Amino acid sequence: MTAVMSTYGRYDLAFERGEGPYLFAMDGRRYLDFGTGIAVTSLGHCHPHLVKALQEQVATLWHCSNLYTIPGQVKLAERLAANSFGDAVFFCNSGLESMEAAIKLCRRYHFQKGDEKRWRTLTVEGAFHGRSLATIAAAKNAKHLEGFGKPVDGFDQVPFGDLDALRAAITDETACIAFEPVQGEAGIIPADLDYLRQLRKIADEFGILLLLDEVQCGMGRTGKLFAHEWAGITPDVMSLAKGLGGGFPIGAIVATAEAAKGLTPGTHGSTFGGNPLASAAANAVLDVMLEDGFMEGVDKKARKFWNDLKEVTGRYPKVYETVRGAGMMLGIKCVVPAGDVITKFHEAGLLPVPAGDNVVRFLPPLTAEESHFAEALEIVDATGKALEAGGG
Ligand SMILES: *Cc1c(COP(=O)(O)O)cnc(C)c1O
Repeated sequence: MTAVMSTYGRYDLAFERGEGPYLFAMDGRRYLDFGTGIAVTSLGHCHPHLVKALQEQVATLWHCSNLYTIPGQVKLAERLAANSFGDAVFFCNSGLESMEAAIKLCRRYHFQKGDEKRWRTLTVEGAFHGRSLATIAAAKNAKHLEGFGKPVDGFDQVPFGDLDALRAAITDETACIAFEPVQGEAGIIPADLDYLRQLRKIADEFGILLLLDEVQCGMGRTGKLFAHEWAGITPDVMSLAKGLGGGFPIGAIVATAEAAKGLTPGTHGSTFGGNPLASAAANAVLDVMLEDGFMEGVDKKARKFWNDLKEVTGRYPKVYETVRGAGMMLGIKCVVPAGDVITKFHEAGLLPVPAGDNVVRFLPPLTAEESHFAEALEIVDATGKALEAGGG
């Protein structure tokens, strides 16, 4: 027992330091970090460029509040807009905050247009949008809602992939469709690209907004800066967080000028959002991710890793069922309990992340190299062999 509240089921592991794709435990043991703190440290640990940028900012200015202009934040917003569909960016500190902001933006958009009846958000089954009262109501995961009283109103849900159900659920009160292009927590479930295109079409047809939750799948995770780029569509608003600060807490929403119209002065805010330190971290992340050829390199490495992973897991059909995902956001659906596979991975020095649907999730650093993937594959192979032979 510690004084830390017991809201998490934690592994019995504690780390002292990180270096590139590796974490070093208190006992000195080295682990290959293919979980990246749940898609956060996407450039690995202590990336020299991030370390330098933060060291400089730490010695200059940490915080001043959004009462004032923050030049680093302005620069970050301009770069996010220039490299996406967006025109306007709002900064906060986490994924759920970005979803809250995005949902508020959608409601205010219709309000500003004089259509204040439109305030409800439509989500799909299996969604995860965070742990605030509104975002648990949005996702409707019974486990997350239990014991917290009547869920916040304003959210409707349809089955994932069912366009007829989606159309039927849109009423004159619907403000937006909120959707993860690749569901993370549910067990790495990528949307069909055509389904994404249809969501765009339906939103246009009904005059409602398309809100994409790219908190986990954005910032290069799928081999493009943003996951929706694969479908050749653009949302009206997108939420970002996890990978944005490379390990420093920062979240954002990126929106078109039209969609952002309703968020006029005083309608939303955050004390910490986009402060000088957070903005410096995210700007440093962008310096790396926007380098010529970086995303192409991620895509290439991801395709090879996926193919190799399919091949290796295919050898042990009694242990591993399938590999699915997009880019460097991959899930192995297991036949044996995923927890048993994770225990074996830990023993062998490999860190994945558990996900729903009996899936073991890999979210490697985007900077991982051939030797790191080979190291992971060897452990996946040895674990399959051991578990197929009957445990031990
Ligand atoms: C992690 C996650 C969130 C919530 O982010 P927090 O920073 O934990 O609040 C929201 N949406 C998706 C898709 C996520 O993966």
